Amino acid sequence: MKRVFRAASLLQVAHARNVLLTAGIESELRNQYLAGALGDLPMLETWPQLFVEDDDESAALRALARAAAVPTGAPWTCNECGERSEPQFTNCWRCGASAQSA
Ligand SMILES: [Zn+2]
Repeated sequence: MKRVFRAASLLQVAHARNVLLTAGIESELRNQYLAGALGDLPMLETWPQLFVEDDDESAALRALARAAAVPTGAPWTCNECGERSEPQFTNCWRCGASAQSA
């Protein structure tokens, strides 16, 4: 099994699991009830996590990346310097201007 996703919020993980299901990928949710219960583990290890079969790893990561990109829309062009930025960035990667300052 390969871990393809983890988040502090179970809601986010459940959403990611739905994304995978929609893409036809079965996933296994772990740590659903462990948060805060384990003293010695690093914090990230206690987060809810999604695991998929080894063969599904790349397809799962692609599906998650696609889903993450959807709500934020298309690439945008900075009004300050004209640079194109990917939709997940809220500020121009080049000059730092806000996407909304347009
Ligand atoms: Zn810019």
